[in-house]
Amino acid sequence: MNTQTETSAVESKISGIVQNQRDYFRTKVTLPVEFRLEQLKKFEGLLRAHEDELYEAIYNDFGKSKHHTQLTELFPLFEELELAIKHLKDWAKPRKVATNLLNQPGKSYIVAEPLGTALVIGAWNFPYNLSLIPVVGSMMAGNTTVLKPSELPAETSAIMAKIINENFDPGYLHVVEGGIPETTALLDQRWDKIFFTGSPQVGRIVNQAAAPHLTNVTLELGGKNPVIIAEDASVDVSVKRMIWAKFINSGQLCLAPDYVLVHKSIKDRVMERMVHEIEKHDYTVERGNFTRIINERNFDRVVGLINPDKVYYGGESNRDERVIQPTIVHNVGLDDPIMQDEIFGPIIAVLEYETLDEAFDIVHQLEKPLAGYLFSHDRDTKERFLAEIPFGSGAINDAVMQNTNSNLPFGGVGNSGMGRYHGEYSLECFSHMKPVLEKYFDFEPDLKYYGHTDRQMKWIRMLG
Ligand code: NAD
Repeated sequence: MNTQTETSAVESKISGIVQNQRDYFRTKVTLPVEFRLEQLKKFEGLLRAHEDELYEAIYNDFGKSKHHTQLTELFPLFEELELAIKHLKDWAKPRKVATNLLNQPGKSYIVAEPLGTALVIGAWNFPYNLSLIPVVGSMMAGNTTVLKPSELPAETSAIMAKIINENFDPGYLHVVEGGIPETTALLDQRWDKIFFTGSPQVGRIVNQAAAPHLTNVTLELGGKNPVIIAEDASVDVSVKRMIWAKFINSGQLCLAPDYVLVHKSIKDRVMERMVHEIEKHDYTVERGNFTRIINERNFDRVVGLINPDKVYYGGESNRDERVIQPTIVHNVGLDDPIMQDEIFGPIIAVLEYETLDEAFDIVHQLEKPLAGYLFSHDRDTKERFLAEIPFGSGAINDAVMQNTNSNLPFGGVGNSGMGRYHGEYSLECFSHMKPVLEKYFDFEPDLKYYGHTDRQMKWIRMLG
């Protein structure tokens, strides 16, 4: 087969899958909450039955250990499934809101309406978490769903496809594996919802593909996440929490601290403490607390960001093993290559500041990040941080942990994304939250009909 024939074979297969999902949605089978609950329970059971295969696949792909996978992938996924199963009946009920006097007697409520057929595109760095938690949201909402996991961790993509495609009706839930050609063919289709996790560059491609159909889009992207350690911060605790957050998944985490702005007066203590924390953990793939860089392209990109003249600690790497040691670079300026793009690897860049204005100014010169972190006791500093620094989600006196609370939505702002999900927010993300006013037949004042006196207008204004 030549390339053109192959492309049209992929396109026609994909358009068949999407048409099948549209037809399935129109049968209205997915609408009752009981159906959705049944499918969520089935999904949870399948994932539990295949847990060992899930661990094995991700270890083979990039050396991610079982415990690491539990903490960062399967525990959050099971938590989302359990919450959905426990609360969906309540969450899916029409939500009552107050009715203004002008519309009395009447009632007002918001109905969560499924959008229809959804496309979920996953990223590679937390392949189960970032592919399957959105799928749970789409199932909760009563949509039909196509999942396209990242092709880079090939075994995890294959095991998700196997579990789903062997057990669900393809009209309801289906996995399409593949890279750019398959994703491009998927994006050529008309969707009712596209949920994308990945880089801002590809996020733009997704948004453009959605535009002709005005498809509802959620973009979960990345950015350079600042950490500010103020002069009054408790250094040991701040550094302990920050270093843990930084080296999860070898820094291949969208919420990871990217660069640290440290007050000049405490810089030396912070640097020493960072080294202490790194050495305490003894990060290695063999110990299960470190992962390989996903591929050689990313390995070369991350190593290329290490300027040997600015290395304070670490800097070694092994291309055959795709491992880069935890590295601290300092005396970094905004013009350095490491400050141009998200690091997405085990390097932490340290910049020092003297005034809070100076620190905030550095953050403002970069795109709005996915996360922002501040370490400080001071009330004014905290208030200024919240009021003046834009970020998707964040923490004060911690890092990354905001993502473990399903009551807090997760999402970006500006260049780091749009939309939000997790917990009940996932239901909203995959639904149209349809506002409805319901009136009764037995009372109709003349007030709203034309031919008003000035006095009536005053009443309308008062009751409105
Ligand atoms: P990516 O944008 O390269 O890939 C994401 C998905 O898009 C993959 O499924 C891939 O197959 C597809 N894709 C890649 N190039 C494409 C193209 N030209 N046309 C159509 N589809 C294409 O991102 P990645 O490397 O998988 O992940 C790293 C990025 O994702 C980082 O920027 C990181 O910050 C971000 N990220 C964000 C979150 C979040 O929740 N906000 C989570 C994880 C990662």
